[in-house]
Amino acid sequence: MSVKEILDKDEFSRENIISLLQSEGNDRILLFKKSAEIKEKYIGNKVWFRGLIEFSNICSKDCLYCGIRKGNKNLNRYNLTDQEILTAARFAHANRYGSIALQSGELESPLVADRIENLLHMIKELSDGELGVTLSVGEQTPDVYKKWYDAGAHRYLLRIEATNQSLYNKIHPNDSKHDFKRRLDCLKSLQDIGYQTGTGVMIGLPFQSMDDLAGDLLFMKDFNIDMCGMGPYIEHADTPLIEYSGKLMVLKDRFDLTLKMIAIIRLMMRDINIVAATALQAIDPIGREKAVKIGANIIMPNITPGKYRDSYKLYENKPCTDDSAEDCQSCLEARVSLADSEVIYGEWGDSKHYELRIRNKLK
Ligand code: SAM
Repeated sequence: MSVKEILDKDEFSRENIISLLQSEGNDRILLFKKSAEIKEKYIGNKVWFRGLIEFSNICSKDCLYCGIRKGNKNLNRYNLTDQEILTAARFAHANRYGSIALQSGELESPLVADRIENLLHMIKELSDGELGVTLSVGEQTPDVYKKWYDAGAHRYLLRIEATNQSLYNKIHPNDSKHDFKRRLDCLKSLQDIGYQTGTGVMIGLPFQSMDDLAGDLLFMKDFNIDMCGMGPYIEHADTPLIEYSGKLMVLKDRFDLTLKMIAIIRLMMRDINIVAATALQAIDPIGREKAVKIGANIIMPNITPGKYRDSYKLYENKPCTDDSAEDCQSCLEARVSLADSEVIYGEWGDSKHYELRIRNKLK
């Protein structure tokens, strides 16, 4: 079947997705044209900001790809004070960002759970309930997720990282702390509790095939996610996976494959929120704009205090680590308009898919 014929279909098979991922030349352009059209029709040429606060790089996990893994000793560990987090949240509110996203390494403890619950109450209070909050702090128990939901967090991003379990096992240590089934159960409980639930994968990992990536997209559709955040895998010298760097696709190809993944998920799930990942910009200076053009509608400007940014280095060449929050905003605003889109201020920019999903469930 030709790419043109595939793009006319309502549902894609695994084989269809693989053909789209492998499209070149005119076929590739057709894919991007179609996903841009669908984005305009279902979302409009709009982008919402989530002010990203990377509030701690302390992590109890040892994911084999990640620069802030527990085993990396070449890193200053930090944990922002509550005041620093609240100052960043105030900046977001004063600049009419609809939402913030709180992200950190993974720690499970009553102390961490209570601290985040408290912070959520304080953020809601300082913004008169106006700031939306996305959490991205990893695997937790259903009780903890519920406590945070009740305290005002309403979106949660937990990348499944790779949906083929045997690939997942190759990029994580084989122990109970890195259990594929637990990650999946966490995603399910987030959805059951009522969060707008987001997931995603890394693209261009060692051992990853086109079939794996097609499976990732089918998983997201089948799981009925509300938000998608996926980006290219970028190696980090202080991680075990660096051993395979010679076997990887070149960065430019990982970047292009990520754009195709974004375009295809936009076609498969027309009304979800899709993040233009920061890692895209580590490869191409206008990487995020390209993602916005072909399907993404969420950007996460970094509003972490500048002095900590260098220490949240998940991968090499992470962009904007020496900018201030103000620099980030004006730079991104100009960039978004380059992508013929408009930043929408003062709105949460919730996933339309979520609204429909909830409404249909209630009926
Ligand atoms: N610990 C939380 C979790 O796993 O949900 C959030 C923080 S974690 C550092 C955020 C994301 O960074 C991960 O989900 C992973 O996909 C991404 N990441 C880590 N190392 C990466 C790398 N080398 N290249 C690209 N993305 C990476």
